[in-house]
Amino acid sequence: MKSAMFGSVGSGNKMLFGLMLTGLLTLISSKAQADDRHGHEHQDQASVAAHVHGEAALNIVIDGALILAEFISPLENLLGFEHKPTTPEQKQAFQDLQQNLMDYQALFELTDASCTQIEQHTTSPFSQANHAHAEWHSEYHLQCSVMGEKVSIKPQLFSAYPALQKLTVQMITEQGQSELILSSDKDIIPLR
Ligand SMILES: [Zn+2]
Repeated sequence: MKSAMFGSVGSGNKMLFGLMLTGLLTLISSKAQADDRHGHEHQDQASVAAHVHGEAALNIVIDGALILAEFISPLENLLGFEHKPTTPEQKQAFQDLQQNLMDYQALFELTDASCTQIEQHTTSPFSQANHAHAEWHSEYHLQCSVMGEKVSIKPQLFSAYPALQKLTVQMITEQGQSELILSSDKDIIPLR
């Protein structure tokens, strides 16, 4: 699927590439949702992963020198609350979270690779009214000048967000699609 699909994508089609990757990530995420029997009802379209407190999803697509990462988590895991911030302390906490997660390095460290973040999007968790369970959803596009044979990532989320206990990492690489369930920041994930 990967080479046939990405083979003709030139550098001038970055936006198209991004859209295709986003579509793929959505596919991966809906598969994860279908596989999950423990999540509570959560059917609106913005929520692509089952919303279970303590759990989050990291999706990664690698094609050549490009890496796209997507992070989806119940806000509860990251903030300790999921409603719209009201007090000055809550507003500050949410602002700090946005600031921190603007950089992919808050999600994972890369080894044997030299990559620059060229794009980042965060979807406002409070864009749906009547949403009791707000979710964090952000995307990162990285352009790599070096990607060595031992390229790997080390998730950074567990130490920063102790309420997060389980991270489901789904990857699409030149080797195909794979899934890993992580429960500690000690895990290093080879990307090829
Ligand atoms: Zn929730």
